[in-house]
Amino acid sequence: MNKKGLILIYTGNGKGKTTAAFGQAMRAAGNGLKVCIIQFIKGKWRTGESRAVDFFGDRIELYTTGTGFTWEAENRQQVIDAVRKGWDLAVDKIRSDSFDMIILDEITYPILYGILSASEVLSELTARPKKLHIILTGRDAGEELIAAADLVTEMREIKHHYTEGITAEKGIEY
Ligand code: ATP
Ligand code: MG
Repeated sequence: MNKKGLILIYTGNGKGKTTAAFGQAMRAAGNGLKVCIIQFIKGKWRTGESRAVDFFGDRIELYTTGTGFTWEAENRQQVIDAVRKGWDLAVDKIRSDSFDMIILDEITYPILYGILSASEVLSELTARPKKLHIILTGRDAGEELIAAADLVTEMREIKHHYTEGITAEKGIEY
């Protein structure tokens, strides 16, 4: 069994970061591990993955904590509040010591926008329960996060169907 929890990062501008993290969650749950997923950007609709998580019973918990809006200035306070709420929840879940894997999906954006500091995130990760695996996703993961990680995969876009005008395909994007 693992003696040390790992920090995995899926970053880059290509598609596949969130779905890679959910793939890890599914694999972990299949092995009887308990997983908590916290998403820092909330969509307007329930996604396929949020419905699929229900099939895993109490092996996977999922929380979405964004506002549903993007990062436009007029919504900034709402966004800040949602991020703080999400981060407070993440801290509670990390400290609870009741999970084997915690996924912080799209966590790079609040860091890039200066709402969360990388050092705040890292000090929590450093102090986490020893065997807890952490997965971080989002574009442009910064140097500090990368330095702290055990594995970093960059999704690089070679081709994407949005250039053909296909933007949000059920089962592919949501
Ligand atoms: P997925 O959730 O499919 O694993 P992701 O987490 O890597 O993708 P995000 O950056 O979170 O990608 O973007 C969410 C969605 O936006 C993706 O499902 C997706 O197909 C779409 N997307 C990703 N890259 C691009 C792009 N370069 N241009 C337009 N849409 C994109
Ligand atoms: Mg994503």
